[in-house]
Amino acid sequence: MASSMSQLLAGKNAVVLGVLNRWSIAYSIAAAFSREGASLYLTYQNDKQKQTVEEFGAELKAAGVYQCDVTKPNDLSSLVGELERSAPAIDAVVHSIAFANKEDLSRPYLETSRDGYLLAQEVSAFSLVSVARALSPLMKNGGSISTLTYLGSTRVLPNYNVMGVAKAALEASVRYLAHDLGPNRIRVNAISAGPIKTASARGIKDFSKILDGVAATAPLRRNTDPAEVADTAVFLASDLGRGVTGNVLFVDAGFQIMGIGGTSI
Ligand code: NAP
Repeated sequence: MASSMSQLLAGKNAVVLGVLNRWSIAYSIAAAFSREGASLYLTYQNDKQKQTVEEFGAELKAAGVYQCDVTKPNDLSSLVGELERSAPAIDAVVHSIAFANKEDLSRPYLETSRDGYLLAQEVSAFSLVSVARALSPLMKNGGSISTLTYLGSTRVLPNYNVMGVAKAALEASVRYLAHDLGPNRIRVNAISAGPIKTASARGIKDFSKILDGVAATAPLRRNTDPAEVADTAVFLASDLGRGVTGNVLFVDAGFQIMGIGGTSI
């Protein structure tokens, strides 16, 4: 790991949204950011997660831990107020948030309700737009906004359904936001992670079959470690990523290049 002499995020203030528990991709990202010397700000959705995320904040020596439900404009504006008070500028934002109703992740996409469709879009795609709109004015020296996406945006994965459609909107939003914010030297990218066992993933019916299929098929013949996703998030937030914007970077053991599953051919 990088020594303190070469910490990639030293002097940077980073906001990470979406830590729920130790298995959250956002937790791995927050830990990697802390290792690389970032001043860390964590958010949690509501009081249920307050204690856990505050404990993580203490463990990772975060500079601040704030409540923020990304669907609530008032929560976003109070987050902005808190950040303005405690950081001269924000350099990196990680959006690691998604939600869909469980029943929409277990039956044919054809059965998706209007409410379920809109909910998935609001929490999983539009929230990137509202987070970018709220926080980009704090990014006075430019910086990086990253989000988490999945292959289900462009390919059909059984039961991923409405979330795949939300991820398609999320990835398109990354490109439009990159265009809007480029003149302010703010880069916007998505990391497309391979499947990882987290609380959200457990909501997808037969998720373990996807994990098994990836381990058998991916060029690296294994699944994705959240620490690998986190190190790519470090790269994007750091000056090493300064030329990269509007992109979807795959951290998936190479699975997305394959045209057929299994290793028997
Ligand atoms: P996770 O631990 O369940 O994280 C999802 C986070 O979204 C939770 O912290 C959740 O908080 C938060 N969230 C949901 N609604 C919210 C709202 N209205 N306001 C604020 N926060 C809200 O699962 P994860 O797998 O790490 O997911 C993180 C991101 O990675 C998601 O975008 C997911 O789609 C993406 N991703 C996951 C995989 C995978 O296989 N796990 C692969 C590729 C991409 P609450 O639980 O408190 O609502």
